[in-house]
Amino acid sequence: MDKPSPSTDLQIRNVFKNFGSKAVLKGIDVDIRHGEFVTLLGPSGCGKTTLLRIIGGFEKADSGEVLLNGNVISNRSPAKRPINTVFQNYALFPHLNIFNNVAFGLKSQKRPKEEIERRVNEMLELVNITDLAREMPATLSGGQKQRVALARALVNEPEILLLDEPLSALDANLRKKLQVELRELQKKTDTTFILVTHDQDEAIAVSDRILVMYQGQIIQDGSPEDVYEHPANRFVATFIGEANILECDRVAENLAQTNFGNLKLEKDPAWKINESGKCHGGIAIRMEDIHVCTPDENFSENVFPAKILQRIFRGDYWELIAELPGVSNFESLKLRVMTDPDEIYNPGDQVKLYMEPQYLQVLSD
Ligand code: ATP
Repeated sequence: MDKPSPSTDLQIRNVFKNFGSKAVLKGIDVDIRHGEFVTLLGPSGCGKTTLLRIIGGFEKADSGEVLLNGNVISNRSPAKRPINTVFQNYALFPHLNIFNNVAFGLKSQKRPKEEIERRVNEMLELVNITDLAREMPATLSGGQKQRVALARALVNEPEILLLDEPLSALDANLRKKLQVELRELQKKTDTTFILVTHDQDEAIAVSDRILVMYQGQIIQDGSPEDVYEHPANRFVATFIGEANILECDRVAENLAQTNFGNLKLEKDPAWKINESGKCHGGIAIRMEDIHVCTPDENFSENVFPAKILQRIFRGDYWELIAELPGVSNFESLKLRVMTDPDEIYNPGDQVKLYMEPQYLQVLSD
């Protein structure tokens, strides 16, 4: 197979998919450029795997099209697409040793013996398992099996590699290590990777671009920084990074009227221009953006009294659970707040919390 031209593009056009009466994909429209590491991120059941399977040709859309380099590939079988898939359960051939597992695709294509030898060895080296070439799959650890699965898929030099929760069966430390390796592998092979995960940390760590899916739709498309710092709505703000949400009634002239008192904003939110100022999504603020005031600090606005309920040691920081009392009979709110390891607060302490205007995200819905 020839290597893709740098202009390789995947286009997904208006894809709909129902299973029975259930609408699983509701009009997916997205372009993915050659060499991007794109992650489909969303909660269980939002349709990520279905979309991946439609790209791979394992599932057919009810309507809409998939194009590769401008050619419609919607009706091509998986084997006729320059796309390979790595599955969560590795799907290695148990009766073949590692070398032959990786060589399988090239042997099926009847490539010359020397070429197979060279390409398989290169690939084993790339994923750091050269010493396992003669082992059988059953003797390998989960992480090693996943490396074999990656080598087996990449040796075919696909234009696109689809990865369906490839790290979810691994323990947390190995998972983090493999995330770094996955990213390196993607850059070294200059292949488009499309990863499915419901793990937001994983998505942030590996991706050039995250497509956040919710109930069959892409609700945000952006870089990890963008999605984290400018969540499109309340769902994204809480799903990615578990932002605190302050319920808010109205926004007027840089001022948000929340259930906890007025909050000064950096500027009037853009979405408000033609609206009444009604704020449905609330105000999001990340725990690392809430500051616990020292006794000598005096901010003129956005300071709220709170009581520390709990502190949790997270290694490089403390996570405090602080209770913010509501005003005019509104219920209190438990906020997550991050402090440095040398800032010690105890349950029962009364503190003042400062929320800097630039970190407040007003969510329209
Ligand atoms: P998860 O993270 O749990 O895998 P997901 O976001 O990948 O979730 P999908 O696997 O795409 O979600 O499934 C979306 C919805 O479609 C689910 O409600 C699922 O039960 C349903 N579904 C998926 N495949 C089929 C099928 N072959 N037949 C019937 N329903 C299906």
